[in-house]
Amino acid sequence: MRVLLVGGGGREHALALGLVGDPSVEGVIAAPGNPGIAGIAELREVAAADPGAVAALAVEVQADLVVIGPEAPLVAGVADAVRAKGIAAFGPSAEAARLEGSKTFAKEIMTAAGVPTARAHTCTDAESTARALDEFGAPYVVKNDGLAAGKGVVVTEDRGAALAHAQECGRVVVEEYLAGPEVSLFVVTDGEAALPLLPAQDFKRVGDGDSGPNTGGMGAYAPLPWAPPGLVDEVMRDVVHPTLAEMRRRDTPFAGLLYVGLALTAAGPRVIEFNARFGDPETQVVLALLETPLAGLLHAAATGTLAAHPPLRWRDGAAVTVVVAADGYPASPRTGDVITGADRAGIIHAGTRRAADGALLSAGGRVLCGTATGTDLAAARDAAYALVRGVELAGSHHRTDIAAAAVEGRIAVPD
Ligand code: AMP
Repeated sequence: MRVLLVGGGGREHALALGLVGDPSVEGVIAAPGNPGIAGIAELREVAAADPGAVAALAVEVQADLVVIGPEAPLVAGVADAVRAKGIAAFGPSAEAARLEGSKTFAKEIMTAAGVPTARAHTCTDAESTARALDEFGAPYVVKNDGLAAGKGVVVTEDRGAALAHAQECGRVVVEEYLAGPEVSLFVVTDGEAALPLLPAQDFKRVGDGDSGPNTGGMGAYAPLPWAPPGLVDEVMRDVVHPTLAEMRRRDTPFAGLLYVGLALTAAGPRVIEFNARFGDPETQVVLALLETPLAGLLHAAATGTLAAHPPLRWRDGAAVTVVVAADGYPASPRTGDVITGADRAGIIHAGTRRAADGALLSAGGRVLCGTATGTDLAAARDAAYALVRGVELAGSHHRTDIAAAAVEGRIAVPD
């Protein structure tokens, strides 16, 4: 199988590693890819969010499967354009990707499907925003209604800051605060059959102890030793299957990767958000533990044959990834700094580029991550931090507490 992988971040580097590890794959072409992916795949330039350009490239490279990593190309209709050429695409249609592209649409689907989530109001002016904030009380949760690369959400005790964020965004969803540990569950689906991957936890805030602003994600680990038994079955029954059924009922079946972000509250699991693609950096740890060949799994989802796919197999042990971020991230990341020590197995590139002289330079806010497996979470954590300590990048920062609370047994699900 020849696979065209669209995107160029850490998620795509992790996907590329999974794809090249599948014996049925004879070649991976990544567009645009990144310097980490360049070591294992052929790179091509493409405007990733241009449906016509990606579809033409898929034809040119004779792809049997196109895997679309980021959300923007999905929302723009890249999967539709590829399928129109008769090529299998892993990723939802533009219509179905609205589950991520519009928070209001996602809430509408959840309400119609009876999926447990935070109560919410969509607001477009200061007056209705203020009313919604006062109805739910502090802490206040205000979300940009459109795509915001994981950074459009403000959770704050400060009513003025909540109002200011709403004004900046224009159209927002104001919702009830959900208290409890968060879980990311990835589900591979062809629209009807659905296979859950291992639940993971990510770290959204920039600083240790969940301090500072939200980011695209500063680290992750899997599996979750503290997750209640039966959690995944419950989420498949109460969230995933009702959502997929509602999408089919509307003639916009969702096929691809449904990312369910949950809070485990005292009242049970509640959906925080849906995404229409693999999450970054959870993909790094989940795929590090997946033993089932990745391309075959994604191809089955892309061709409506997932019901016949064998059960997934997982490696024993655990995986941890720690993100190294650029100076100034997330507010105003500095780019163009030299990186050394990154040419090692387990370093996943996210925002890097090669200079003309071959030097590796930072090119984004989240620059790279150290991803490691181990016999248990503590061992995986030690190995991931050893990788990160070997990287030099002026001004960079990373969290020092990724997976620490889980290793120390400090995470409790409220009951
Ligand atoms: P989202 O982009 O919707 O995933 O939100 C980003 C982060 O904000 C989540 O991972 C949570 O940490 C936090 N968040 C979002 N919605 C809520 C909520 N209703 N209650 C508590 N925290 C939330």
